[in-house]
Amino acid sequence: MTRLKREACLIGGDWVTGERWIEVDDPATGAIIGRVPRLGRDETRRAIDAAAAAMGAWAARTAKERSVILRRYHERILAHQEELAALLTLEQGKPLTEARAEIAYAASFIEWFAEEAKRVYGDTIPSHAPDKRIIVLKQPIGVVAAITPWNFPAAMITRKIGPALAAGCAVVVKPASQTPFTALALGLLAQEAGLPDGLLNVVTGSASEIGAELTASDKVRKLSFTGSTEIGAQLYAQSAATIKKLSLELGGNAPFIVFDDADLDAAVAGAMQSKFRNAGQTCVCANRIYAQAGIHDAFVERLTAATKALKVGAGSEAGTEIGPLIDEHALAKVREHIDDATAKGARILTGGKVHARGGRFFEPTVIAGASAAMRVAHEETFGPVAPVFRFDTEDDVVAQANATPFGLAAYFYARDIGRIWRVAERIEAGIVGVNTGLISTEIAPFGGVKASGLGREGSKYGIDDYLEIKYLCLGL
Ligand code: ADP
Repeated sequence: MTRLKREACLIGGDWVTGERWIEVDDPATGAIIGRVPRLGRDETRRAIDAAAAAMGAWAARTAKERSVILRRYHERILAHQEELAALLTLEQGKPLTEARAEIAYAASFIEWFAEEAKRVYGDTIPSHAPDKRIIVLKQPIGVVAAITPWNFPAAMITRKIGPALAAGCAVVVKPASQTPFTALALGLLAQEAGLPDGLLNVVTGSASEIGAELTASDKVRKLSFTGSTEIGAQLYAQSAATIKKLSLELGGNAPFIVFDDADLDAAVAGAMQSKFRNAGQTCVCANRIYAQAGIHDAFVERLTAATKALKVGAGSEAGTEIGPLIDEHALAKVREHIDDATAKGARILTGGKVHARGGRFFEPTVIAGASAAMRVAHEETFGPVAPVFRFDTEDDVVAQANATPFGLAAYFYARDIGRIWRVAERIEAGIVGVNTGLISTEIAPFGGVKASGLGREGSKYGIDDYLEIKYLCLGL
């Protein structure tokens, strides 16, 4: 791990430090585990210039040459899976088993886009005139900026840099300040895999300064952001002056609906996976659980029993299922949501307070009697709290599920095929899990509707956001 843990940024192939630093802590203990440079606008501009300078030769290579290097990068990430997972758990807190899975998931985007690099097909179009021919080319969009969050410190980076590099672009990555070490390690491994200097730059530091430079620069032609809706909207506005293409993967408020005809055990298992992965800190985590009147009590009983059995601990401890929350701010939000719900009549069935271990550990919680008036109905809790709402009819629950500005993931459990089609079509979300609580894979398009964002990541669609279409009209 010591070799991969870099306390310097990667700019144009050089490892760069500065005068100022950001300390990084271990969420399980609060202990400082290291520091990274606090860089600003000047260094960001240098990174953009390095990217712009490197991009031409990269874009001019054949797709196969780019693919070979990306595949080598994929293999190198997997060869370091254990070390990367340990580093990720150290700075992020998630259980080591989840960190290992995230590294494999992160690597899968590089592999997928190494393959997709070779399939960026253009088009010929039957002409509108006998003496003309029409051809459509796809070309790399230009320098890409990627701003990423702390909840998936590896995967949120690779699913942006994978398609960008495959398309022939160069990237400047600004990782979250809570989890910069995984990002810097990914930079090092790219270098070792033979990715030419300047194509992948990783800049840590002041989010607002780096964000300001990335959005103001007219060399940056695309911004891909994963994070809060508030910051996403701000970056959208900042990008207006330079008319950048944007991919925004923002907040969610996922409904998880269990109908009377559901397989209850499967629904409980799915709810546990969807709700408690990463201690509830994913943008596709079930945020509101709706149980139909006929199965409500049985579902709540089983969900509560399963939640009580979860093992809370440091991510590095064997058997841990729920790690610490990322910081005090996250802990405070969870507490506020529970207090608000109980003040408005909800009942805590298990959990509800800071765990006996103290620090940032919070008890996995189930709340019954949740209602639309509560904050848990409108805001992403981003913690290990499962509020259960009772409902009567399909129409009623679809209306409640859609009564949010967000639309990232939604889940429901049912067996009636007519109901499955009706609900899947009516639900306003970019991703719908039917009889499953796990939906993430590099081969499927990930992204949201409404205030959850713009664009899709992963899948055959994911590379489109990094390409421009050029139409040639050829006179004969
Ligand atoms: P979260 O609530 O998950 O921390 P944020 O939207 O605050 O979500 O953070 C996501 C990413 O956006 C992080 O890398 C963070 O540093 C970055 N960020 C935060 N504020 C800004 C800003 N004003 N400009 C650019 N990036 C920002």
